[in-house]
Amino acid sequence: MSQYQIKVRVDSQDREGDAWGALIEFIDTCAKNSEEIFRPSQQFDKNHWVHIRSLPKEIGRLKKLKHLMLYGSNLTRLPQEIGKLEALEIFTPYTSYGLRWFPYEITRCHNLRDSTVSTRALFGNTKNKKGFPDLKNNPVDYHGGNVCSICDKVEIDVRFEQYWISCRVATDVLPLLVIVCSDDCFHQIKESAPGYHSNPHKGGDAINR
Ligand SMILES: [Zn+2]
Repeated sequence: MSQYQIKVRVDSQDREGDAWGALIEFIDTCAKNSEEIFRPSQQFDKNHWVHIRSLPKEIGRLKKLKHLMLYGSNLTRLPQEIGKLEALEIFTPYTSYGLRWFPYEITRCHNLRDSTVSTRALFGNTKNKKGFPDLKNNPVDYHGGNVCSICDKVEIDVRFEQYWISCRVATDVLPLLVIVCSDDCFHQIKESAPGYHSNPHKGGDAINR
């Protein structure tokens, strides 16, 4: 064990309390109204929003959503369903300092053209020399189970491989967690951005040195 150990924060979302239920209801209303902007800091109860650490899978129901506005949130992770936001054009997690990585599925949002991210908080940021957590010993478990980032196969008995890859997403290069079920899917992972680790990697000391 080196003293330099960074970890992916565990999913600390309380899913029993009122805030979580209210958020799912709120998203349901947004979906019914075909909302184009999701801005919980203004549209959703502030007393609930401060307790939200992760968005629910239901976020993927916002098929008309163009702007995901998460400015100043307490979020620490986003679900794989972010890739279902097919109309998404603008992604604004700016000053959500707990968001240090993103699901690879965000690369499925083909209309995404603009982003504002606090890059200093990100894993693999070159300016503050932040490394990548070791995925070999600390794989990520999404709430409700993992699926393959490429083909959507559901992980059941055997854990799928997980890697970090830094790709350009809209305006920024983001550290992405990619989960793959097979060699075939591994070979379909996008190329990394120039100047970043060229291959998908497991993080940890070998990469961070
Ligand atoms: Zn797959």
